Amino acid sequence: MHRFFVAPEALAQQPVVLTGDQARQIHRVLRLRAGARVILLDGTGWAHEALVLTSHAERVTLETTSRWRLASEPRLHITLFQAVLKGDRFSWVLQKGTEVGISRFVPMVCERNVVSDLAAVAAKRARWERIVREAAEQSGRARLPELAPPRPFAAALLAEPSTADSTLRLIPWEGERARSLRGALQSCNLADVSGIELFVGPEGGFSAEEVRQAERQGVVPVSLGPRILRAETAGLVAAALILYEAGEMEPLSMPIGER
Ligand code: SAH
Repeated sequence: MHRFFVAPEALAQQPVVLTGDQARQIHRVLRLRAGARVILLDGTGWAHEALVLTSHAERVTLETTSRWRLASEPRLHITLFQAVLKGDRFSWVLQKGTEVGISRFVPMVCERNVVSDLAAVAAKRARWERIVREAAEQSGRARLPELAPPRPFAAALLAEPSTADSTLRLIPWEGERARSLRGALQSCNLADVSGIELFVGPEGGFSAEEVRQAERQGVVPVSLGPRILRAETAGLVAAALILYEAGEMEPLSMPIGER
């Protein structure tokens, strides 16, 4: 069944009314008509089965018939601070990162960024949000990963007010010779960690000064091994390894989308 994230307010009334892109998607692209069933997600962890009552390109109405809690969200929240990349590579990171289970993306502009204009980056927001939403629907996420506004590296490093003591902050750096990602994860009790912040550099990597700056802010440099990964690969690999280590890559007892 197709899944759609909708505003919780839209789910508060019956029938549920969808307009804009979502109505177009349901009517034109998927060609769903009265009688079809879909799953509506409120973004807070509830899934609602819904029956299409009427279907037009501008307006689709649905009636929800049952709801259940989804258990697909990782307990461990990963924030990926990723340097913005050339071309479509950043969109690729958003899409794959959402599938893997990243909870929040923060675009950064670093010293060696090829793409360095914050306004140009901000202009891509609507497209990036759509990519995250579609990937979240396709992969069965219960919550919509957040896309934060872009910021310079120095601002990204400043711990946010919400950053609790139980947040582990890591900067994968190919120059790190001692500490592995695994070592960093095993040196703390992952069960007590509620969030991990990952800082991944641009195509040209971080400058040595940037890594020093990060260390001064309590961010720990880690190696991802002896091979240099491309900027768009590093964050995904690190996120998958962290979730694996945290036991978040295990099967659910019930398939996604079932009660
Ligand atoms: N400076 C490098 C490439 C940077 S790779 C060069 O041009 O040769 C882009 C980013 O991916 C880096 O900033 C780092 O965050 C991450 N990265 C890639 N390979 C890594 C590795 N083996 N260990 C840790 N981090 C790595």
